[in-house]
Amino acid sequence: MPIFYKKYIKHRLSLKSQTTLSNLRIFLLDLIRPIRTTRIITKILGPQYKRSIKDIEIDITYDCNLRCFNCNRSCRQAPSKENMSLEQIEKFIKESIDKNIKWRKISLVGGEPCLHPNIFEVINLLLNYKQKFSINTEIYLVTNGLMKEVLEKIPQSIKVINSAKEISAQDGFESFNIAPIDLKKYKNKDFKNGCRILKDCGMGLNMYGYYPCAVAGGIDRIFGFNSARKHLPEKNDQMFDQLNTFCKLCGHFKKHDVINSEKMSKSWKEAYLKYSTKDFLLKSKSTKLTKY
Ligand code: SF4
Ligand code: SF4
Repeated sequence: MPIFYKKYIKHRLSLKSQTTLSNLRIFLLDLIRPIRTTRIITKILGPQYKRSIKDIEIDITYDCNLRCFNCNRSCRQAPSKENMSLEQIEKFIKESIDKNIKWRKISLVGGEPCLHPNIFEVINLLLNYKQKFSINTEIYLVTNGLMKEVLEKIPQSIKVINSAKEISAQDGFESFNIAPIDLKKYKNKDFKNGCRILKDCGMGLNMYGYYPCAVAGGIDRIFGFNSARKHLPEKNDQMFDQLNTFCKLCGHFKKHDVINSEKMSKSWKEAYLKYSTKDFLLKSKSTKLTKY
């Protein structure tokens, strides 16, 4: 399709019909996905999605004041008050400047980012990076909207995405805790393919380091593989080793599968059980997570 015609269509279409088109696109991508993610097709065409080098989601806390079913950061399934430190945010900014990375979009996520005890300091550090080094960077804060007293004080230069959640059952959430590796039909897929979250949301950073997506960081928190990059990856690092590790456990890899009750497959039940024992955090040899 000629570029001018694409631009014309984008300009003319209403938001509603754009959403319909985007749903159609998701439907079609879903339709071909069982074949597209086979090893043989992936070998020929390469992975369906690649990790972003322009956008990043930072899970500044895993604390949350809601307990949604199928939370893909496990805030309901394995509550935690872990926060990123200000030093870690400073390290991220220093690494970005040293590597001359001018992010297109930095999103503060979680958990509920407004629960971070130093949320305003975190924002100030990022605004400073924006003003002094990368004026076109957009900084987002993604919130469930419950912390109104904090939200009122967020500077106007921050774009707030408020999902306005109130209850545990969320329309549109996927079956995150049904691991593809536990289902026969996914056993032989090539997990390097990732999913559209790689493209739509960007790479991830949490208190353990960098991941191809922030969801993978939330999975590592529970399983304890400690496979985060401890330094900002080079642009040509596709992070395939991490995709192979995490996508096989992540329900988003599967065909779009909306669910609003809680369901878990074997791998996740075992992992949460292990996580919930104090032994796991204090003594277990499988606890290998080290800080960013
Ligand atoms: S509000 Fe977000 S982070 Fe909190 S439990 Fe719900 S989905 Fe998870
Ligand atoms: S870990 Fe999950 S969200 Fe991230 S790329 Fe893999 S399937 Fe997608």
